[in-house]
Amino acid sequence: MLYDLHTHTTASDGLLSPLALIDRAKMQQVDVLAITDHDSVAGINWLNHSCGSELQTQPLVIIPGVEFSCVWRGITLHVLGLNINLQAPGLQQALAFQHQAREARAVKIAERLAKIGVPDPLAGALEVVRKQTEGIFADQELQLGRPHFAEHMVRSGFVETRDQAFKRWLGAGKMGDVKSQWPELQQVITWISEADGQAVLAHPARYKLTNTKLRRLLQQFKTCGGHGMEVATAGTTPDRLAYLAQLSCDYELLASCGSDFHGPATHWADVGKVPPLPKQCRPVWSAWSL
Ligand code: AMP
Ligand code: MN
Ligand code: MN
Ligand code: MN
Repeated sequence: MLYDLHTHTTASDGLLSPLALIDRAKMQQVDVLAITDHDSVAGINWLNHSCGSELQTQPLVIIPGVEFSCVWRGITLHVLGLNINLQAPGLQQALAFQHQAREARAVKIAERLAKIGVPDPLAGALEVVRKQTEGIFADQELQLGRPHFAEHMVRSGFVETRDQAFKRWLGAGKMGDVKSQWPELQQVITWISEADGQAVLAHPARYKLTNTKLRRLLQQFKTCGGHGMEVATAGTTPDRLAYLAQLSCDYELLASCGSDFHGPATHWADVGKVPPLPKQCRPVWSAWSL
């Protein structure tokens, strides 16, 4: 069975619509696919409303998920909520909170980009995200993020590539990386738990923490009620895979695997392109009845 439990659609900063993502996942022989947009479940809601019955009869199993942004000791972290109950009472409020945080941040990012000469940053980024979603999501469902600003900077000729936009202006510590009012780690773990989901620390190696600090994070993540961590990610090395697998055992965290797919252009992070979990790991899906 091939699991990919971390993917994005046009409901956040992915480039494929929910349906196109599903088609691609099938093409890549994925058996179980979690859709985990940034702070949004609009993609899964759209699928359920538009083709609910068809979804249940197809071989690909779709897991409702979300990737929440939060902070821990001043560091922005991403926590996946996997197999969440979309009807859970508090979930709408949690998503509304995140949406507001994103909007407020987008205004600040736009102010800063305007100062350095990017033309109409807010309108431009909105235009990018609206076009990408091809009208299937309403404005209040859209999660405006830095990738949309990056794309606008490319389209307006301010930089040549999105990569450049991140390297120079939007990446960690750059002027467009506006500290935003993300909730604390504990808060998002609580939201996920209350929605009957598994809270999984996303891409633990991407925060560039020292070993000691990563261990401290995992310890606290566990204490806060977190369930698991991503162990197998796209483009990982055998060393890192073994290291993260060991950490998941040390902290008794369930192990997850996901490509963090955003679009077909990044071939090394295509849907389903994740190595199998090492044998000693306890998979996050071991408690699911699929
Ligand atoms: P946001 O959620 O708005 O803070 O944007 C974060 C997203 O930007 C991540 O989920 C990635 O998809 C993308 N991203 C972050 N860093 C980079 C980078 N250096 N180059 C390209 N994309 C990036
Ligand atoms: Mn993203
Ligand atoms: Mn992430
Ligand atoms: Mn992601």
